[in-house]
Amino acid sequence: MITRSAHDVHNLADNLRQDTVNDSVLIAVGDSPSWQAQLAGAVTVPEQLLSMLQLSPDLLSGTLRANQEFSLRVPHAYIRRMALGDLNDPLLRQVLPVAQECQHVAGFGLDPLAEQSHNPVGGVIHKYRGRLLLIVGGACAVNCRFCFRRHFPYQDKQLDRDSWSEAMDYIRADTTIGEVILSGGDPLASSDRRLLKLATALNDIDHVRTLRIHTRLPVVIPGRVTDELLQWFAHQRLRPVMVIHANHANEIDDSVRQALAKLRQAGVTLLSQTVLLKGVNDDAQILAALSEALFNAGVLPYYLHLLDRVHGAAHFNVPEERARAIMAEMMAASPGYLVPKLVREIAGKPSKTRIY
Ligand SMILES: *Cc1c(COP(=O)(O)O)cnc(C)c1O
Ligand code: SF4
Repeated sequence: MITRSAHDVHNLADNLRQDTVNDSVLIAVGDSPSWQAQLAGAVTVPEQLLSMLQLSPDLLSGTLRANQEFSLRVPHAYIRRMALGDLNDPLLRQVLPVAQECQHVAGFGLDPLAEQSHNPVGGVIHKYRGRLLLIVGGACAVNCRFCFRRHFPYQDKQLDRDSWSEAMDYIRADTTIGEVILSGGDPLASSDRRLLKLATALNDIDHVRTLRIHTRLPVVIPGRVTDELLQWFAHQRLRPVMVIHANHANEIDDSVRQALAKLRQAGVTLLSQTVLLKGVNDDAQILAALSEALFNAGVLPYYLHLLDRVHGAAHFNVPEERARAIMAEMMAASPGYLVPKLVREIAGKPSKTRIY
């Protein structure tokens, strides 16, 4: 099984070739480097991250092994929103490798969603009626410690780099598919050129009406929302929907609000998706603050996911009973449209399973 970090390098190199960005450009451009440069300049050394946050390197015990299993990756734009000197910062907790990840916990495995058995052709995950996922690439702007795809063999499953004909033939042949969801990894880690090529191919399939993108990039590197990307959205026959992954209100700063406002102006329907994470957002007030911050940015909450039971993420798990109690508290204190649906993904079910 190939590791995610090795694969990232491959995809990053792909992005970089197109803009020939290198470190010298990163330094020269100062505070507004291109998104590719920001992606390439992400911090991957735990010592460096701790030192930037004025935290003691003594805190690293156990980090090393976890980091070898799934390496740290976090861009500067995201680090800037973390508090200094606080090991419990909710953004830091999402990205810093910790010793607990190496513990084997019963019920937490390598492919919790059985995605590897719903892979009819390369790059396609088709589990639900009417919609399917295209795995655009394995790269992400940030490596989230709780990610359910941290052990996914991207190299075998993602779309071929140059030819999508098999995936397109599959979609064309099944007229029930009205919606194609770009996923990954993070689909927006791919270049605009690659996305445009893909959208053009989908555009030619009449029964596809909606193009949905699940992404964390507008939050992690708001500069990813380029004019080229906005143009692309504004001129779609396909109805564009973007599901933004955000887990805490501190992630939504001015730069993120601006990026999201541009997407709305380009006609994109904005929804959000959150993972319920112990020690990050397992609290009704924290979740209500997140909904409020998202709504201020023009985004409506869609799903709150119970953690997928993946090896390495057990310490983030919030028991279902506690999750229901949090939801009840949130319902009582917020307008209904600011309360996401609490769901769990259960392998083999025809949709996400509604818990609350
Ligand atoms: C989550 C998911 C979808 C989308 O489900 P919605 O309920 O429509 O958001 C589609 N396909 C797969 C494989 C998924 O995991
Ligand atoms: S951005 Fe999404 S796919 Fe990428 S590591 Fe984070 S949770 Fe996983």
